[in-house]
Amino acid sequence: MTTLAKTEKKISAGDFYRLDELFLSDDDRLVRDAVREFVKKEVFPHISGWDSGKSAPYANHEELVRATARKYGQQLSLFGASIEGIEPYLSHLNFTPLSHTSYGVAMREIEYCDTSLRSLASVQSSLCMFAIFQFGSEEQKKKWLPALFTGEALACFGLTEPQGGSDPGNMLTKAKKVSGGWVLDGNKAWITNGFADVAVVWARTEEGIRGFLVEKGTAGFTYRNEEKWALRAGVASSLSFSGCEVPDSALMPGTVQKKPHDLKCPLRCLSEARYSIIWGVVGAARACVDETLRYSGERKLFGKALACKQETQRRLVLMLNDTENAQLVALQLARLKERKALSHVHISLGKYNNVNKALNVAQTACELLSADVFTFDAFHSGRHMRNLNVVKKYEGTHEIHQLIVGREITGEQAF
Ligand SMILES: Cc1cc2nc3c(=O)[nH]c(=O)nc-3n(C[C@H](O)[C@H](O)[C@H](O)COP(=O)(O)OP(=O)(O)OC[C@H]3O[C@@H](n4cnc5c(N)ncnc54)[C@H](O)[C@@H]3O)c2cc1C
Repeated sequence: MTTLAKTEKKISAGDFYRLDELFLSDDDRLVRDAVREFVKKEVFPHISGWDSGKSAPYANHEELVRATARKYGQQLSLFGASIEGIEPYLSHLNFTPLSHTSYGVAMREIEYCDTSLRSLASVQSSLCMFAIFQFGSEEQKKKWLPALFTGEALACFGLTEPQGGSDPGNMLTKAKKVSGGWVLDGNKAWITNGFADVAVVWARTEEGIRGFLVEKGTAGFTYRNEEKWALRAGVASSLSFSGCEVPDSALMPGTVQKKPHDLKCPLRCLSEARYSIIWGVVGAARACVDETLRYSGERKLFGKALACKQETQRRLVLMLNDTENAQLVALQLARLKERKALSHVHISLGKYNNVNKALNVAQTACELLSADVFTFDAFHSGRHMRNLNVVKKYEGTHEIHQLIVGREITGEQAF
């Protein structure tokens, strides 16, 4: 195991372009500091262990996700807090609305530690609470939004199917109308927190693709957690529906579609979650820059610290450049979102760009760090590199986001 010389010297690129200093509001900075402090105290000490497969102090990864969700809810009041108009459902709780910028900053601070822990917040807030708020009945909103906000309940979002996530219009899960309810049959793949208390499930009906809220324990609904080599502090599951009968009240009434293959409703939720990713990955990239800078200042080879070598400096600067570029994009998308001018095409290019840059940074970090980067506990950059490879794939793959932007600028659909 590598040992680094102890040094008091603080080596950091900090807020290089002074973006936090100049462009965040006082409120944004308060959120940043609160989340940073929370992450440092509550999750950093455990993350390497959780990533390596341990779950202490919790019994297993499901319990660790539940406990973390409760902490996010109760200590940070983060879940769903930037959804415009949600206040009436949460005003009896410790609810303060967050700006889109503050919410983005919170995602960045969480992903500085780990992508799985940011995914937990994105799925709960941007996919599930957003879906329930936008498309749910009053009864569904009153039942689920307060419990999801406090983290007492968990939700998951079931869109992807085993035959191909990039083409959700090829959906095979069906919901058949029966007297007093619906019967669901089909399978969903790679669903974050599939063990949750309630699943937002998208299924084909005679009226097009509609959303349903299916509660854990409903007869005919089962899940199985996947083994995976990334996002290991989180859980992703396969869901199976076999003759799963739900009452009429499980249908989300706002998911009315104009055309049979229309996917506007789930895609609106995905846009919200992709905005979280655009901010989150800046945190992962920053963590890699900070770790590699620290290491290259401390590690001496051939008589000098690695930071004295031209090649090391050149690559550190490339890492910093990519990170600050990604931060600029995140800030600009936040500005557009605050002005209600953010389109799904901006989001596609932003996700493509920021994940690409963050992954470059993590990969370069892994090249500059010692062989211990391949262990679970010596460095964080190896975990970020594994995780960012998944971020490149989920919530729309790199290729699909490029094709969405390509369609926008050429007017030609190529997928
Ligand atoms: C850890 C994790 C968590 C996830 N969480 C959720 C969740 O909570 N809910 C949910 O619904 N889904 C979730 N997903 C699923 C995720 O969104 C899908 O994996 C993603 O949409 C890609 O689908 P796919 O894996 O089936 O790949 P496919 O769609 O089969 O694509 C395979 C490859 O082909 C490429 N490709 C596809 N079409 C084209 C084309 N026209 N031209 C060129 N290349 C193309 C793709 O870019 C990709 O590289 C999660 C996935 C992971 C790994």
